[in-house]
Amino acid sequence: MFYHEKRDGFARTGKIEIDGRTVATPAMLEVEDIPDWDFGLAPTSLKFLNEELFEVLKPQNEEVEVLTSLHLLSPRQLVDVFERAGKKPVYAASSALPSNVSLLIYLGADLVDNVLAIAKAYNGVFLMGEIEVQVEKLQRLPCNCIHCQGKFVEEVDNLSKTVARHNTEMLRMEVEKCRRLILDEELRNYVESKVKLDPELTSALRFSDALRDHSTFPRFKKSRCNFSALESFNRFEVRYFFNRALECYQPFSDTVLLLPCTARKPYLISRTHRYLRSRVKINVNEIIISSPLVVPREFELLYPAVNYDTPVTGYWSDEEISFVSGWLKKFIEKGKFSKVIAHVAGGYRKVVERIEGEIQAEVVYTAEDDILSDKSIDRLKKEIEGYERVDLYRRIIDHMLSYQFGISFEGEVKGRYPELELHDKKRLARVDRIYGMLDIYEDIAVHLLEKKIYSVEIGDFDVKGTIFAGGVINADEKIRPNDLVVFCNSKIFGVGIAAMSGREMVESERGIAVKVKRKFLM
Ligand SMILES: [Zn+2]
Repeated sequence: MFYHEKRDGFARTGKIEIDGRTVATPAMLEVEDIPDWDFGLAPTSLKFLNEELFEVLKPQNEEVEVLTSLHLLSPRQLVDVFERAGKKPVYAASSALPSNVSLLIYLGADLVDNVLAIAKAYNGVFLMGEIEVQVEKLQRLPCNCIHCQGKFVEEVDNLSKTVARHNTEMLRMEVEKCRRLILDEELRNYVESKVKLDPELTSALRFSDALRDHSTFPRFKKSRCNFSALESFNRFEVRYFFNRALECYQPFSDTVLLLPCTARKPYLISRTHRYLRSRVKINVNEIIISSPLVVPREFELLYPAVNYDTPVTGYWSDEEISFVSGWLKKFIEKGKFSKVIAHVAGGYRKVVERIEGEIQAEVVYTAEDDILSDKSIDRLKKEIEGYERVDLYRRIIDHMLSYQFGISFEGEVKGRYPELELHDKKRLARVDRIYGMLDIYEDIAVHLLEKKIYSVEIGDFDVKGTIFAGGVINADEKIRPNDLVVFCNSKIFGVGIAAMSGREMVESERGIAVKVKRKFLM
């Protein structure tokens, strides 16, 4: 039986009972600990050669989905088998090495084993992390683990067995690393770097981004989004952010000011943006250009805009310019702006120039090379001053409510940026900077429950810190892991963080569905 704990996309942590032992997943099983599960009579690759025959010969297990020898599959096939793996815990048998195991776990493997690590040893391969070294080329074992102890190769009694044990430890460490990374919501950053070691793994990640159903991916995360690779542009959180922000964006002025991003987030607390605002009264729409993000000011406290990092060199690749300018164009078109004031230089300016001829609005460049020089600022002032004062913080909260829940709510915005709060007579909502979302209190919780938005209906039991999937009667299908949700039964209601998707809450019998933040009596 599998017990779900935490999800991060396709990957998850949990516990599984194997022959009376409880194993924390994702886990590596050692050959001698593998229970008598059915491995079928053909590897998973047969499925792509003769599907009918594979249906007859494939493994048949009640409690676990066994996929075998996945390293033999093409990248596209690999992604395909995980997409169709179903709801049982997934055991990727005879498939894992330190080089590919993070991707297997990212794609949804709960269990792997050390079969390939051992096979490598008996083929004379010593694993140094993901790097494979022929043991015959070594004088000493370059490792001080309990098995190697830095011994001279010729002094080792049973070399293959020793290397097999060492290789197993290398793999175990990698699996443990992934478990940790899921808990920290960092697995994607890690996988993007790991797949670079092998173009086949990179292809698999790209197919996964392009082809799979991403309904179990969170919209909000506590980890920083590292945009270090081309694959970063295609992350679920980037695509979601663009589509959702575009949908929710409600500009108010006929003019839009384009500004460059800053290393410090949120942008408004950076020295550059603060200095500009101290010199120029900005009461028009603003859009911040970054790579790969394009962020209307109203969305800067939302994930991933609030917590990302990107390599800054001043050099923009053609791919970056066309990706970023494409989204910038969509936001400008949505705003139906008649004037675009581009207070940008260098690569940022190239982004604007790329679309200048394609948009209706007049484009004015106000910056010299230094956007903070007196001359640049004077030109900006001339273009932008004289607009009526706008309550920016109110607009930020409104856009966050719309983005996160699709609602609007009356109230007064208080607090020192970015720690904004929405109040009526009491606190209604506050900015949660860790997750880049809003946290909500009683009145908005009631509103969401009435509208059945992000709501979870649970049985009439006493609610403590955790709501288990077995206690969930119904849940909004829109719910993703890490979403702020509202729950209720006939006695109480409250606010919590989803640990799985809404569909999983309804379908699963076991595991953590919601972590409770606060509760109220009906
Ligand atoms: Zn060792």
